[in-house]
Amino acid sequence: MPEPKTCPACGGKLEYDSRCALGSRELELYLCPDCGRAELYEPEGARARRRAEEQEAGRFLQDLREKLAAGELTAELFPCPTCGFPRRDRVCPICGSVVDLETLTELQPGEAEKR
Ligand SMILES: [Zn+2]
Ligand SMILES: [Zn+2]
Repeated sequence: MPEPKTCPACGGKLEYDSRCALGSRELELYLCPDCGRAELYEPEGARARRRAEEQEAGRFLQDLREKLAAGELTAELFPCPTCGFPRRDRVCPICGSVVDLETLTELQPGEAEKR
């Protein structure tokens, strides 16, 4: 249920009219029954989703920076010595092989792919 909006022109109560698309964005059209003013709002769900996506992207970058600083990741991809998967983690996400990121030598081989 859309929250009530106030008309910026006359202070009356805007009424939800319909959804419309503006470019790639979906917006909700509100009309003022008193003065005829039309206002566009981003739907609540889209706003919450966008906020969540921004937070997610921020967390991801933060996580990446922390891992780089802690020596858990390399800046460049390298092929995993055990499974060949292009990785940048100290520990291979595929096979679990552990590599010294300074020298790129394998400290602990991973488990070969079981397929
Ligand atoms: Zn109005
Ligand atoms: Zn691997």
